[in-house]
Amino acid sequence: MKNRLTRKQKKMLIRIIIAAALLAVIAVTLFFVDVPWWAELFLYVIPYAVAGYDVLRTAFINLIHGQIFDEKFLMMVATVGAFGTGEYPEASFVMLFYQIGELFQSIAVGRSRKSIAKLMDIRPDSATVIRDGQECEVSPDEVEVGDTIIVKPGEKIPLDGVIVEGQTAVDQAALTGESVPVDKALSDSVISGTLNLSGVIKVRTTSTFGQSTVSKILELVENASDKKAKVENFITKFARYYTPSVVIAAVLLAVVPPLFLGIGDWQIWKAWLTRACVFLVVSCPCALVVSVPLSFFGGIGGAAKDGILIKGAGFMEVVSKIDTVVFDKTGTLTKGVFEVDDVHPNLISRAELLDIAACCESFSSHPVAQSILRAHEGHIDKSVIGEAEEIAGKGVKATVDGKVYYCGNGKLMEMCGADWHECHLTGTIIHVAREVDGSSEYLGHIVINDQVKEDSAEAINELKGLGVKRLVMLTGDKKNVAEGVAERLGITDCYSELLPADKVAKVEELIASETGKLAFVGDGINDAPVLMRADCGIAMGAMGSDAAIESADIVLMDDKPSKIADAVKLSRKTMRIVWENIIFALGVKAIILVLGALGIANMWFAVFGDVGVLIIAVLNAMRCMRRLNR
Ligand code: ADP
Ligand code: MG
Repeated sequence: MKNRLTRKQKKMLIRIIIAAALLAVIAVTLFFVDVPWWAELFLYVIPYAVAGYDVLRTAFINLIHGQIFDEKFLMMVATVGAFGTGEYPEASFVMLFYQIGELFQSIAVGRSRKSIAKLMDIRPDSATVIRDGQECEVSPDEVEVGDTIIVKPGEKIPLDGVIVEGQTAVDQAALTGESVPVDKALSDSVISGTLNLSGVIKVRTTSTFGQSTVSKILELVENASDKKAKVENFITKFARYYTPSVVIAAVLLAVVPPLFLGIGDWQIWKAWLTRACVFLVVSCPCALVVSVPLSFFGGIGGAAKDGILIKGAGFMEVVSKIDTVVFDKTGTLTKGVFEVDDVHPNLISRAELLDIAACCESFSSHPVAQSILRAHEGHIDKSVIGEAEEIAGKGVKATVDGKVYYCGNGKLMEMCGADWHECHLTGTIIHVAREVDGSSEYLGHIVINDQVKEDSAEAINELKGLGVKRLVMLTGDKKNVAEGVAERLGITDCYSELLPADKVAKVEELIASETGKLAFVGDGINDAPVLMRADCGIAMGAMGSDAAIESADIVLMDDKPSKIADAVKLSRKTMRIVWENIIFALGVKAIILVLGALGIANMWFAVFGDVGVLIIAVLNAMRCMRRLNR
C-alpha cells in the first residue's frame, strides 16, 4: 500500500505520523506534569504546525485572494479560535484529523482514477506494419486503412481489422469483462484494444487509429465526467450556500448572545466562541463534494470492467429510474444471424436468385444482408454492381449488370410495384424484384430465420424482477415472426412492421404515457434516431460498430442483453450509495450544528462531524468500484 502512495501523499503521511507522535508525548506528559498555560500553548502549537503547515500556508494565500469561504481558511480560523479559547489539545487534534481526512481522500481519488486508468491500458503503444516486405514499428496513428500489420502473442491489437494470415486466441476481457479467450482465424475480424494471446497473426486494417474502437472508447471514458448527474449539480449548488450560511451563523453565534448575556464577561465570550468554532469545523461540505462524484466515478469505472460503458453520471441516474425498456428485435434480442431456410424463385433459378440477392446486399451491413452473403458463399464480382441504396426498414435497391433490383420486405415490393405474394413458411421473407420498362417483375423470395439469443429470456426476467413495469419490443420485421419471438420471451407489448421513423414515434408515445424513464436498447444498425430519442439509449454489441458508440448513452461492448439488467443494478447501487452519503453527511452535520449551538457538542464532536463523516462517506463511495458478483 505504502509504496503505491505518491510523493506528496508520502510527505503528508510522514508529517501526520510525526505530529501524532508529538501530540501523544505532549498529552501524556502534561497529564502528569503541571506547566503554566503559555508553556502548554507553546507545546501544542508544535504538532499543530507540523501537521497543518501547508493548510495554514494555503489559507493565507487564499485570504490574500479574498477566498474566505475556502475550507482551509475556515479550518485555520476554527483552530486559531480554539487556541484563543484555551482548547489547545482540541486545536491540535482537529488539525491532525483534518489532515488525515485529506490524505485519505487523496488516496481514494487516486485509487478510483487508477480503476479508470486500467481501462486506459487498452491504448496500444505501437503497431508493427509491413511495408515493402519489411516489418517496421510505428505509432498506431501512422497506420493507414488497408495496411497489413503483424501482431505477435502477448501484444495488444492496435487497430481494428481482419485476419489475413494465421490464427490465434484473443483476450477481450479489457473490453467486455468476459475472461474466456475467443478463437480467431482467417478472415475473422479483430478489435483494437484486445490482447493477442497465442499465435502470430497478420491483420489487414479496416480503420485508422482515430476511428478505431479503442480510440472511441477512450474518448468516451475521458469525457464521462462532463455529463453530470442532477444530484451532483445539486450538491455543488448546495455547497455554495451551505458553507457561507454556516460561517455567518458561526459569526452570529460568537457575537450576538454575549452582547445580551454579558458584554464584559470573558467566560461568556469564550463559551460562545467555542460554539462558533464547532460550527466552523463542520462548515466544510467536503464529505459531500468529494464522495458524490467519487461514487459516480467509481460506478462508471466498475461498470466498465464488465464491458458496460456509461457516458456520464447523468445516465447512471436515468438508468436507475427506468420503468420502461424498449427493445429492438433483430440483433438485440435475436442473434441477427439468419439462416437461409429456403429459396423460392420465380422466373429464374434458385442459384440466380441467391446470386442477385447477394450482389444487392454486398454493400449493406444489415444482419439480413450479412446472412444472405454468408449463404451465398461464392465470389461476388463487385465491378458489376452499380448504384446501391439502403432503404431503412425496407431493404435495398441496387443496380447489377445495368439492371435495377429491389431486395427486401413486402413494403419494398409495394414501393416498386411488383406483383409479389406472401410465403406460406414462417420466417423473415426477403423478396426480390427487377425493374423492367417502368414496372417491376417479381423474382421470388428467400426465407430466412433468426435465433433468439441464449440470455434474452434471462434478461427479460431479470428486468421484470428489478421492477421494470413495461417491456416492449419494436421491429421492422413481419408480424408473425415478431410475435413468435415476443411470446417466447414473455414480452406482451410487441409492435411490428415499423419503419425507423415509426419506431421513434412509438418511443415518443411511450415516453409521454409513462411517468418513469424509458430506455431503448438497439444494436446501433439503423436505430440511431431511436437511441437518441430515448431517455437513455443503450447500444449493444459495440465491439467494432462505431455508430453504436456514438449515438448511445450506454454502450454494451458485447451483445448480451442480460448486461442491461447489470447496468440497472450497478446504477441503482451507485445511486443508493450516493444518497446514503448525502443523508448521512447532512444528518450528522445537522445534529452537530444543533448540539453545537446548544453547547452540548464540543470540538471532538465537530471533528467527527467533519473528518469522520468524510472518511466513512469516502469508504462507502469506494464500494461503487466493485463489480457485481454474478
Ligand atoms: P429490426 O427492427 O428487426 O431491427 P430493421 O428495421 O432493421 O429491423 O429492418 C426491418 C425489415 O426490413 C427487415 O426485417 C427486412 O425485412 C427489411 N430489411 C432491412 N434491411 C434490409 C436489407 N439490407 N436487405 C433486405 N431486407 C432488409
Ligand atoms: Mg435493427
